[in-house]
Amino acid sequence: MSLNYDLHSHSTVSDGTLAPGELVKLAAESGVDVLALTDHDNVSGIAEARDAARTWNLKLVPGVEISVSWNGHTVHILGLNVDETNPALCQGLRQLCEYRSWRAEEIGRSLQREGIGGAYEGACELATGALVGRLHFARFLVQKGHAADLKEVFRKFLVKGRPGYVNGEWARLEDVLDWIQQAGGMAVIAHPARYNMTRSKLRRLIGEFRELGGRGLEVVSGSHSRDEYFTMARHARDFGLLASAGSDYHGPENPWIKLGQLPELPPGCEPVWEHF
Ligand code: AMP
Ligand code: MN
Ligand code: MN
Ligand code: MN
Repeated sequence: MSLNYDLHSHSTVSDGTLAPGELVKLAAESGVDVLALTDHDNVSGIAEARDAARTWNLKLVPGVEISVSWNGHTVHILGLNVDETNPALCQGLRQLCEYRSWRAEEIGRSLQREGIGGAYEGACELATGALVGRLHFARFLVQKGHAADLKEVFRKFLVKGRPGYVNGEWARLEDVLDWIQQAGGMAVIAHPARYNMTRSKLRRLIGEFRELGGRGLEVVSGSHSRDEYFTMARHARDFGLLASAGSDYHGPENPWIKLGQLPELPPGCEPVWEHF
């Protein structure tokens, strides 16, 4: 019998709403056999998730989703099966979290200039973990009635040209691949269909990523359409990359994304988990 894999998920350590242990419990109850915890730029939830995985009899893959700036785009790179204690990885993530702290204050100041007070404090209160991200600001803005839902928030605020936007200055692709490799992990491009890139630019990214030692593409993602699974599967095959699958679960508040319900990889894909 084939196992149920979900190799992309978030906890309260970054912008998810379930604590690492709660997330693992829900994943196990939802039929997931192998779960990767991949918080943004942070690995501090892995120890708790690992303990819970023992309790709930699930295999935990230690992971991280790292923010990268590449040719004017923000790109997310998953590190799967990393040694989360590796010094190069930890040092790189520490710098990203320092940048995130500064950016959060800057987002607060930007919203203040638009007449929205208390956003930084509000976002910090909603962020119980190690970092404050845009999703915490988004939840604050919805709570205060500035938008009806998260989708609308990200149209009205926090994106280019809108109040609360701060240009992300993240890590370099080559550095992130180096950290992941030093930590013994496999690098995978997260949700490749979500970057608003032309086909040729996306293929340039995939080509550079491959050259730098990147191993996989997230073919099946909670944020991909069925058509996009097949398009991304073709890119993976063209570049000799492995295929991954992950829900990008952030918590039960989003009814569109559930744990344990990902479709199978399209035919012809070589699963990344066969190489762990
Ligand atoms: P950050 O890394 O702090 O810039 O925040 C990025 C995160 O914001 C993503 O990982 C998502 O969780 C969330 N996000 C970005 N755009 C949207 C959107 N349109 N709708 C809902 N969540 C979003
Ligand atoms: Mn997120
Ligand atoms: Mn992402
Ligand atoms: Mn994610």
